[in-house]
Amino acid sequence: MRYIDIDNINFIPGRRLERSDTFSFHCHKDIACFNKCCRNLNLFLYPYDIVRLKKCLNITSDEFIDKFVDVVSREQHFFPVVLLKMSDKKEAECNFLSESGCSVYLDRPYVCRMFPIVQGTFYDAQAGIDKSLYFFNPPPFCLGKSEIKEWTPDLWIKDQDADFYTKMAGEFEELQRLFQSDPWGAEGIGGQKAKMAFMASYNIDKFRDFLFNSSFLKRYKIKSDVLKKIKTDDVSLLKLGFEWIKYYLWSIKSLNIKMRS
Ligand code: SF4
Ligand code: SF4
Repeated sequence: MRYIDIDNINFIPGRRLERSDTFSFHCHKDIACFNKCCRNLNLFLYPYDIVRLKKCLNITSDEFIDKFVDVVSREQHFFPVVLLKMSDKKEAECNFLSESGCSVYLDRPYVCRMFPIVQGTFYDAQAGIDKSLYFFNPPPFCLGKSEIKEWTPDLWIKDQDADFYTKMAGEFEELQRLFQSDPWGAEGIGGQKAKMAFMASYNIDKFRDFLFNSSFLKRYKIKSDVLKKIKTDDVSLLKLGFEWIKYYLWSIKSLNIKMRS
C-alpha cells in the first residue's frame, strides 16, 4: 500500500480499477514465468507482515529484523520504511523463494498477497476523502495476465486471504500519515523517540519486553483487559503500539493507555 496524493494520481503505473472492475489473471506452478516475480524487489513490509513472518519462521521480531530486513529513510518522511531484504545471489531473489515457490506462502507479506494489484489510498483531509485505490500492474514478463480467470479487487482480496492484512495495513497507514510532519524536534530521526516508535511498530517482541520489564507501566496506565491480552497476543500489542505512538508523539487521546498522574 502507498499514499497517493491528488496531484500524482494519474502517474501511478498500471490500470486503475474500481472495486467492481474486472481484471484477468491466473498464477500457477505450470506457468513458464513461475517464480520470476520473486526477485530483485523493493518489497515493503508492514508491521503485521513481520508479526506473521517471525511466527512462521519461529524466531523473534528482533532476529527477523536483523536477518531479513532493510530499513530505508525517505526524503520528506519522518519515519523509515522497512523492506524485505533480497538475497546476495546473482538474481537477488527473495530469501523465502524455493524451487516449489514461496516457502512462507501462508504468511507471505501483504504486497505479495495483493500482487499483481497495487493498493493505495487516496487521502484528502480537507475534502474528507479516504478511499482505497487499486491498480492492476503485472510486470511485462508476467504471463498470468493472459489467462482467462476473472477477478474484481474485492474477490482477489478474499481469495488471497488479505482482508485482515488490508485492515492492519490501513491502521498503520493512518499512523504513517502523521509522520508527514516532523515529530522528533531537536533530537532528530536518530534520537531515542524515533527508536521507541520504530520498536513499537516493527519489533513487537522487544516492545513487549520493554513494556513489562522497564518503568513503562509505572509511567503509563493500560486498561486491565488490554494489559492481559498483550502479554501473549501480538496483534493486540501491535494495535496498542500504534495507539501509544500517537499518544506519545502527538498527544492524541487514547482509549486504552494514559499517562499516570
Ligand atoms: S510472474 Fe506473474 S504469473 Fe508468473 S509466477 Fe509471478 S505472478 Fe505468477
Ligand atoms: S515472500 Fe514469498 S511471495 Fe513474497 S517475494 Fe518472497 S518468495 Fe515471493
